[in-house]
Amino acid sequence: MPIRILPDTLIDQIAAGEVIERPASVVKELVENSLDAGARRVEIDIERGGVGLVRVRDDGAGLAAQELPLALARHATSKIASLDELEAVATLGFRGEALPSIAAVSRLRMASRVAEAQHGFEITAEAGAVSAPRPCAQPPGTVVEVRELFFNVPARRKFVRSDATEASHIARLAERLALSRADVSFRLRNAERVLLDARAEPDRSRAGEARVRAVLGEEFLARALRIEHAAGPVSLAGWIGLPTASRAQPDEQYWFVNGRSVRDRLLMNAVRLAYRDVLYHGRHPAYVLYLMLDPRWVDVNAHPTKLEVRFRDARQIHDFVMRAVERALAATRPARDAAAAADAARTMAATDAPRLRPDAARPREWTRSPWALAGAVRDAGPASFEGAGLESGPAAVSDAAADHPLGTALAQLHGLYIVAQSRDGLILVDMHAAHERVLYEQLKAQYAASGVPSQQLIEPILVHLKPHELDAVLERRAEWERAGFDVSAMGPAQLAVRRVPALLGGQDIVRVVRAMLADLELGAAAHHLDGTADRFLGALACRTAIHAHRRLTLPEMDALLRQMEATDRANQCNHGRPTWARLTLAELDQLFLRGR
Ligand code: ADP
Ligand code: MG
Repeated sequence: MPIRILPDTLIDQIAAGEVIERPASVVKELVENSLDAGARRVEIDIERGGVGLVRVRDDGAGLAAQELPLALARHATSKIASLDELEAVATLGFRGEALPSIAAVSRLRMASRVAEAQHGFEITAEAGAVSAPRPCAQPPGTVVEVRELFFNVPARRKFVRSDATEASHIARLAERLALSRADVSFRLRNAERVLLDARAEPDRSRAGEARVRAVLGEEFLARALRIEHAAGPVSLAGWIGLPTASRAQPDEQYWFVNGRSVRDRLLMNAVRLAYRDVLYHGRHPAYVLYLMLDPRWVDVNAHPTKLEVRFRDARQIHDFVMRAVERALAATRPARDAAAAADAARTMAATDAPRLRPDAARPREWTRSPWALAGAVRDAGPASFEGAGLESGPAAVSDAAADHPLGTALAQLHGLYIVAQSRDGLILVDMHAAHERVLYEQLKAQYAASGVPSQQLIEPILVHLKPHELDAVLERRAEWERAGFDVSAMGPAQLAVRRVPALLGGQDIVRVVRAMLADLELGAAAHHLDGTADRFLGALACRTAIHAHRRLTLPEMDALLRQMEATDRANQCNHGRPTWARLTLAELDQLFLRGR
């Protein structure tokens, strides 16, 4: 075949293949145009999953008659005029290829009116052939109707899924768009049925929260922390879900960069890392985060659909986001007024099971949650050790203690839970989970300061190991060392331990070393450590924390409660399960139908 220049329509159809993947892409491009035109209200109507019709109506600036044909011309845009402007682009569009691409693969009508004009003008296009503008009735603003998408590209149409699937893609997209601009009203209807109706809250200080409520529901807000962080020209704001409100899927993760919804690996990874110390393996945090920065610092032209972005200083942005989220999460520790692990656990229980009613009430439902159940499965062997870093103070069962968020310990329940009385009700604490977190945070802080304090043994303790186990330990000797152990080989199948972390106290060192070895070296058993920032210290904390059925004295229990209150992230154990739950007096009254 001889070389020839492709006809324009074919070029547009090829471009459409990149930009217009499915009906939702049409919605995205049209709504972004509306937002770029300064719309305060955007109405979206779809039929047959968007294949039959996508109509987007806005009250934005509009277009004059002579501009209408240009809007449909390839590489025609009003948004940038030079490379400089491209590098500082603040609009959602700038490539000037959406409308011609859509027009090349559908039947399109665009009507528009600028505010000053007496009436509007419309043009139509079918498979790329554009009509001349004609006067028409049209309120100020623009409407674009796209019918029979892909009618002339059967290959594309094959990739379109069922109406319901395409409609749900559009609905999820509309949610993201609505979250991106709390100051704009959005409505989405599917064949007259309203799928989303989010009105802009006029009070600017509450608009963001109102929008999150409208899209994700009160449920989300009740289990999220507000985050607001700025460093010079970069700022991060939004809501991050409590670790105890994590999800099985990463389906509630929303990132916006300068008002543009993105799915950016760097940003998602920064959040994932920030949560790694507080989330169970395989769970995903929920969040809505807005990053604002100078548009020149971010290249949105990395991909035709602009879903991915490139930061000029990727490392810095990554660390900024990670630290901001980490800091917010550090504050998840017992406090009387803060949203507690307990409350999150209860919300979770409420969604999993019918709401608690007196006749259905059995005590274990108070704290019922996937975590509470998983948490009950723990090694139940008798603990033959003492101490474990738990310094007990004098018996402090006084009124003053009831002032603490976690109150005063009353008893130990089934060797698993501490029962305490707080000023406003009853507190239950998962003893092992809580202690594990306290130790882990202590170890991390010690390690960062001057190293984990350790203790020389009078005589080395010998641990019999299989040769490959011995090799595994020696291979990671440096790590054992920084966690406070001095280990060396004593023959082909024996490990000599000469120094141990001080917090081990009088514990059975052979048992702890073996358990840690199993956690660290034998993949299968270690999956629960994957989340932790420091697997080694995590394993040490887990294996030295008080275990089930270890009897604690009341002062020991109180000491643990006070330590929890002083420990960052203490609302959840190292695997993200809640460490404590609260039942307020009001809830108890309700349980017993007692009027107050
Ligand atoms: P881009 O958005 O990249 O500029 P498009 O093909 O999406 O390219 O749109 C081309 C031009 O048409 C835009 O630059 C804008 O001037 C105009 N336009 C499109 N949609 C609207 C709208 N809803 N209101 C006003 N102008 C619009
Ligand atoms: Mg556009």
